[in-house]
Amino acid sequence: MKKSSEIENLIKALSKIQGFGNRSAIRATINLISNKNEKLVPLIDALQAVHSKINKCPICGNFDTTSPCSICTDNKREKTTLCIIPDVSSLWAIERSNYYNGLYHITGGVLSAINGIEPSDLNLLSLPKRIQEENIKEVILALPSNVDAKITSHYIINMIKNLPVKISELAHGVPIGGELDYLDEGTISEALKQRKSV
Ligand SMILES: [Zn+2]
Repeated sequence: MKKSSEIENLIKALSKIQGFGNRSAIRATINLISNKNEKLVPLIDALQAVHSKINKCPICGNFDTTSPCSICTDNKREKTTLCIIPDVSSLWAIERSNYYNGLYHITGGVLSAINGIEPSDLNLLSLPKRIQEENIKEVILALPSNVDAKITSHYIINMIKNLPVKISELAHGVPIGGELDYLDEGTISEALKQRKSV
């Protein structure tokens, strides 16, 4: 017996999610169909709400119900400090630490020769203009410490080094080996507090 096309389509859609292989997609599909009221219905509602209400902020790249996002429009934030991060999960991690009160710029990833990711594929080229227009005084680079991220940091430094802006990097010696969302709040606060000028 063949699976119905409805089931096949759900498996296919789920298997395209990052971190989901075909086997996980099959397991999740069976789990959802077996628990329609408890799992499938709330999932449909959540997906519909996200689809209709959440947008990408045109300034920083954050996801929010308002556009620009609530961070970019918050007058209590330190508007002359800009933290450069690779993704929204890094933003959530830094916000969780309750230490940083500046603005963000989400690159959407890092440069990669192997994967063919060039500066124009990322949210990078608008950065010098943003720094000038918003009168940014300090840029904090908070990209991971792998080779591609380091190349990306150097690219950013080269792009903005002639602007009247202080450039700093998260502290060395703090275990920023991977992604910020794996770190606890205290470690993130320390890495920001002990940031070094580059
Ligand atoms: Zn924003």
